[in-house]
Parts: sequence; structure tokens; C-alpha cells
Amino acid sequence: MQDKLKSFFEEHSIKGFLDHEEGLALNRYALLQAEFGPCLELGSYCGKSTVYLGWACRERNQTLYAVDHHRGSEEHQHGEYYHDPDLYDVNLGLVDSFPLFRRTLHLADLGNTVVPIVASSELARREWQTPLSLVFIDGGHSEPMAIADCLQWSEKIAPNGVLAIHDIFEKPEDGGQGPFLGMKAVLATGDFVLEHQTKTLVFMRKK
Ligand code: SAH
Ligand code: MG
Repeated sequence: MQDKLKSFFEEHSIKGFLDHEEGLALNRYALLQAEFGPCLELGSYCGKSTVYLGWACRERNQTLYAVDHHRGSEEHQHGEYYHDPDLYDVNLGLVDSFPLFRRTLHLADLGNTVVPIVASSELARREWQTPLSLVFIDGGHSEPMAIADCLQWSEKIAPNGVLAIHDIFEKPEDGGQGPFLGMKAVLATGDFVLEHQTKTLVFMRKK
């Protein structure tokens, strides 16, 4: 599957913010975890991480929930550093990554695997009941948002399930501290142990 992922991303240019090695690590973890229940990602953007996770879930006949309001994070807004004019609805004056996300789902043949949830993290988790085998957090990166996302989605994970968090920077000079503080907050609950790290992506396992 790793070779197929490599060729897929060579053939199709999928916009996104995930290193290939990190994607492969996500794929390996999802292959293991999806045996035990559905997976969920927060922050799909144009679907790059969705393909790494989704192909693992498809292999296991399992569901991947993909939560994103598709209105972009702070840094994607008009005039901000990571703004992409291809993802801008000029009429509404709003970012919209959903069309390119759907395109990726189609190209990657994930229509029978991924359930897109076009909603904010807050709304999506409000009534969430289904125990999850793996949650990947890559949504809003501000400190309050990342900490709330990590803590609150971690509660939805089944025993022995995995919480993966992207963009972990231990030192402020290397990057924003939101996800790192989120990771620390989850470890401080005592319910998770740190298991693995690939570049800026950490994996924690629930006791
Ligand atoms: N995982 C992606 C990158 C995600 S970028 C990849 O592999 O390329 C972060 C995404 O989080 C953006 O698409 C943004 O719309 C989404 N996001 C930010 N805050 C959110 C929130 N509160 N609820 C839902 N989605 C959010
Ligand atoms: Mg990220």
C-alpha cells in the first residue's frame, strides 16, 4: 500500500500540509487500529491526510469520519500567509476547501469509506457517541482550540485506541505551541501514554 500511496501523490497534485513520511505513519497506525472500530480525522483540508487514513480504513472495511468546516484555519484566511486563491469563494468572500476535498475523495476512490462531516469540531463532537479506534487531530492550531480539541476528542477514543496529533513543536521558535500544549494536556490526564513520533506527528495510546 505504501508504494501505491507514493504513486497516487506523484500522479495527482493534492494540496495539503502533511509530509509523506508522516502520512505513511498515519497509514500504518490506521491499518492496525481500524480492525477495532472507526477512525476520525479533524482537519481534512483538501484531503491529503484523508487518503493516507482512508486507504487503511478501506482495506479493513472500516469507516473514516472526516470533520472539517472547510472554511479554513486562521492562517488560510484572505490576506494571511497560507491563503490559497484556488480555495476562495469570491462571491461569498469565504474560504471553501470542500470542492477540492470531494475531488480528492473521488480520485482516491474513497466514496464508500469516508463520511465527510462539514461542521466545526465543536458541533461535530457535541453529540458524538461512537467509540473511535483512532483520532487524528489537525484542525485549528491556536492554543485554546488545539487544547480543547485534543482533550475533548480524546474522550471519544476507545480503550487501547490511538490519538495522533500533528504539528508538534517542542520549542516556540520552531512553530506554534497549540498542538504541543494539547498533547501535554492529554498526557496530564494520565489516560494516555506517548508511543511514537514521526517528525512533527505524535501517537499516544489510551490505557
Ligand atoms: N490534514 C490536512 C491539513 C489540515 S489544515 C492535510 O493533510 O493537508 C487545517 C484544517 O482544519 C482546515 O481545513 C480548517 O478548515 C480546519 N479547521 C480549523 N478549525 C476548525 C474547527 N474549529 N472545526 C473544524 N475544522 C477546522
Ligand atoms: Mg498540520
